[in-house]
Amino acid sequence: MTNEYRFEFRPYQRRFLRSLTTNHGKWDIREGIILRLTDESGKVGWGEIAPISWFGSETLEEALDFCRQLPGEITDEIIFSIPDELPACQFGFESAWEWESEFFSMPNAQCPMPHAQSYSALLPSGEAALNQGETLWQQGYRTFKWKIGVDAIADELKIFESLIHTLPASAKLRLDANGGLSYEEAKLWLWTCDNLKANGKIPIEIEFMEQPLPVEKFQQMLELSLSYETAIALDESVATLGQLAACYQKGWRGIFVIKPGIVGSASRLRTFCQQYQIDTVFSSVFETAIARLAALQLAAELSRNNRAIGFGIDHFFEQEETCFQSLWNDL
Ligand code: MG
Repeated sequence: MTNEYRFEFRPYQRRFLRSLTTNHGKWDIREGIILRLTDESGKVGWGEIAPISWFGSETLEEALDFCRQLPGEITDEIIFSIPDELPACQFGFESAWEWESEFFSMPNAQCPMPHAQSYSALLPSGEAALNQGETLWQQGYRTFKWKIGVDAIADELKIFESLIHTLPASAKLRLDANGGLSYEEAKLWLWTCDNLKANGKIPIEIEFMEQPLPVEKFQQMLELSLSYETAIALDESVATLGQLAACYQKGWRGIFVIKPGIVGSASRLRTFCQQYQIDTVFSSVFETAIARLAALQLAAELSRNNRAIGFGIDHFFEQEETCFQSLWNDL
C-alpha cells in the first residue's frame, strides 16, 4: 500500500552564542530545513535536514533544491529512494516518516530535555576550556570533549596539562583533532596520553582521540590505532553510511562516531550496526530539537559500551523553543 503525505518545508537559521572554532574554521550560524509530513488523517511527522557540507554531506543549497523540486504530496517510495549523495535529506525525510506513525505526531508534542550525565559536553577550544570545564561539571556533565589541532601543538599540550588537572578526577576527556594533526603530531599526542597514564600522572580518563588525521590518511590511523593504548575514534572518515561500511571493510575495529543528522538512511544504519556490533559514539550536528529527538532515539537503540553521547551542546545556543509546532510557526 502506498501512503501519501502532504509535504511542507521551512528553512531555519540559528546563531551560535559564541562561534564554534574547529580545524575546519569558524562557524557562526547553523542553517537547516524543517520538514513536515501530514497524512490523510491529519497526523504530523517532523523531520529536519541539518547538513554540514564541509563534513561530507550535501550543501544546504543542494538540500533546498531537492525539497523545492518535490511535489506537494509525496509517497513512501519517494522518501526511501532519496539518493546517497543527499545523506542529510535521507535522514530528515526518513525520521519525519518514522515519527508520523509515533506519538510525536501529536501537534503539541514536547521535545525531551537532555540529562547531562549521559552527554558529552563540548568545551570551547584553547584556554577557554579551563574555565568552562568547572561550570559544565556543576551542570552535571561527566564526559568532555576538547578540540585540538586548532593552535600550535606546544601550546595545546600545555593547556592539556592544565586541563587534566582542572577537571575533577572522575571526568572523561575526548580529544577531537578534526583531522588537523600531522602523523608526527598525532604520535606525540598519543604518546603523551599513553605516557601520562603509564606513569600514573593523569587523574582523569582520556576516553579516546577523535579523527587525528585527514580522511585520506586511513591506513596511518589504522596503524596508530594498533600502536597506542589510547583509543582512536573515526569521525570525518565515517560521516556517511557508505564511508562507515568502507572503513569497517578495510579493518577498522576502533570507535565509530556517528552523526545521525548527516549519516544517511536511519533504517540502513540500524541494519548495519546490528549486523556488525560496532563500537559507536553518537554525536550532534548542532541540529534543533527535531533532528535531535530522532538522533537520540537511534543512539538509545544502537549505543554500546555505555559511551556518553555527543549532544552536550545546549550552551552553544539560546534556550530553544521546545514545542515542535511553535518552532515551526516561528520560522
Ligand atoms: Mg569530531
